[in-house]
Amino acid sequence: LQPRRGGPKNLPIAEVYIDDDEAKAKTKPRLVILGGGWGGVALLKDLNPDDYNVTVISPANYFLFTPMLPSATVGTLELRSLVEPIRRILSRVNGHFIRAKAEDVEFSHKLVEVSQLDHKGKEVRFYVPYDKLVIAVGSATNPHGVKGLENAFFLKDINDARMIRNKVIQNLELACLPTTSDEERKRLLSFVVSGGGPTGVEFAAELYDLLNEDLTRHFPRLLRNEISVHIIQSRGHILNTYDETVSKYAEERFARDQVEVLTNSRVKEVQPDKIIFSQKQEDGSVITKELPIGFCLWSTGVSPTALSQKLAKKLGDVQTNRHALETDTHLRLNGAPLGDVYAIGDCSTVQNNVADSIVSFLRKLAWSRGIEPETLQLHFSDWRQVAQDVKKRFPQAVNHLKRLDKLFFEFDKDQSGTLDFGELRELLNQIDSKLTSLPATAQRAHQQGLYLAHKFNKMAKISDAMLANDIRDGDLDAAVYKAFEYRHLGSLAYIGNSAVFDLGEGWSMAGGLWAVYAWRSVYFAQSVSFRTRSLMAMDWMKRGLFGRDLVA
Ligand code: FAD
Ligand code: MG
Ligand code: MG
Ligand code: MG
Ligand code: MG
Repeated sequence: LQPRRGGPKNLPIAEVYIDDDEAKAKTKPRLVILGGGWGGVALLKDLNPDDYNVTVISPANYFLFTPMLPSATVGTLELRSLVEPIRRILSRVNGHFIRAKAEDVEFSHKLVEVSQLDHKGKEVRFYVPYDKLVIAVGSATNPHGVKGLENAFFLKDINDARMIRNKVIQNLELACLPTTSDEERKRLLSFVVSGGGPTGVEFAAELYDLLNEDLTRHFPRLLRNEISVHIIQSRGHILNTYDETVSKYAEERFARDQVEVLTNSRVKEVQPDKIIFSQKQEDGSVITKELPIGFCLWSTGVSPTALSQKLAKKLGDVQTNRHALETDTHLRLNGAPLGDVYAIGDCSTVQNNVADSIVSFLRKLAWSRGIEPETLQLHFSDWRQVAQDVKKRFPQAVNHLKRLDKLFFEFDKDQSGTLDFGELRELLNQIDSKLTSLPATAQRAHQQGLYLAHKFNKMAKISDAMLANDIRDGDLDAAVYKAFEYRHLGSLAYIGNSAVFDLGEGWSMAGGLWAVYAWRSVYFAQSVSFRTRSLMAMDWMKRGLFGRDLVA
């Protein structure tokens, strides 16, 4: 049974229908999902099983529960507990899985170009046809153009966690050898984390827990004061996207735990046994410093995958964001045929119109004062009102709100205490470029996946009826379902036997053991299955009873 060939490259075209009744199956729209991460899996979770022929394409055949990945690096959790087979998740919707990588999309032919290595290690390529395509391929690690990253470790998938775990244990064992010099032991036990975001901070906290809870028990030769943990952060504070009280709490906690936090520092190079960075001093001068490293984690943010970059380039001018694929508020990929292609999760951003919304707010303000918008002179108190309105409508802008206040003074070029129309226009341009990005979190990807599931369910019900009534609405999405709205449900981070919550709108909490349990239960609830929940619960219990498993 040879597949037919076709498309711009005349490749084989893979058509698969999984249904008891193939004839019936062929009448259903083909829904192809690229990626089996948070976005893709949330979509699968709520999609009606009978409405679409579903195919998931991903190089990984498992869903990864990323928020717990830092715990797995030090053996608090087993690696296997954090993954769930995609095929298992797909069975509910009678879906089909192709373990391969999406390389390109032919939008006008509705084909995804896919690659995989065959049993001889030779690359094969083929097309997968779609009626609806969802791009949910996530993001890649951001190298920031730093030299020597081959000497650093990353924390993105399960193999990364495995390698980190082995390296940490290997360093501890080497440090214990009688032939290891004092200096070499200090180097082996110097753990450096580059990047003070949630991933870096949680890894540092987990590592610290390991060193404190298990080391004295299992490695009595190692002296606690020979071990050091350092976080190198480019900004003035760690967890800088969180509420101020949260980052303060984290910093105080680390100071007490003797985890060194080096702020205003930029890594220049990672060498096999040391890391070189520059640090801005209080007087403004910059000095170059170095630290010996036994291990270095690189976790300084994310950048688009090769696929996202390729598609953005292909779609041309409508894709203007350098960091993500832009969609409209219905999550449809800008520049692709309307209603064919969607993008969700880390790989995407919703182009929203904060500036438009502000303009209409200002217009109303001007009219209420009986003046033309062009002659409006905006005082700071007016601006605060605008900021409140933005905050209500665009909750993802909450973290930037402090900066909104500052913007007023920055853009009041003539320092008149008011903004005139010209000054306002400049300011709005800046807001549109800065404030429109959604956070790259599981929470967001999850919400977007569910949104598409509910919309697709509705579309499957309605499209026949609407077409029958001859409502040939080119914009079915907007006709049947509301626009996507992100709801910020707060962020949380784990910091050495305590957790900090940032609940948005200035609410924050921090606390001891009870907070850790609250934190775990939040992630338990978000977790995909009872299977995963049970496995993790058993791991935590095991660790409580027997300590971590330090075998590699
Ligand atoms: P992903 O979940 O990354 O999924 C992408 C999928 O696409 C994967 O299956 C991948 O294999 C596949 N893929 C990649 N390239 C291709 C291709 N070319 N073709 C086909 N498939 C492809 N967020 C939180 O909200 N809270 C947290 O506590 C938190 N902690 C984190 C800790 C760590 C260590 C990490 C790495 C991330 C953490 N995040 C957290 C962020 C969160 O994991 C991401 O925001 C989320 O995974 C984004 O979901 P996604 O579906 O867009 O991408
Ligand atoms: Mg995904
Ligand atoms: Mg994932
Ligand atoms: Mg994505
Ligand atoms: Mg002025």
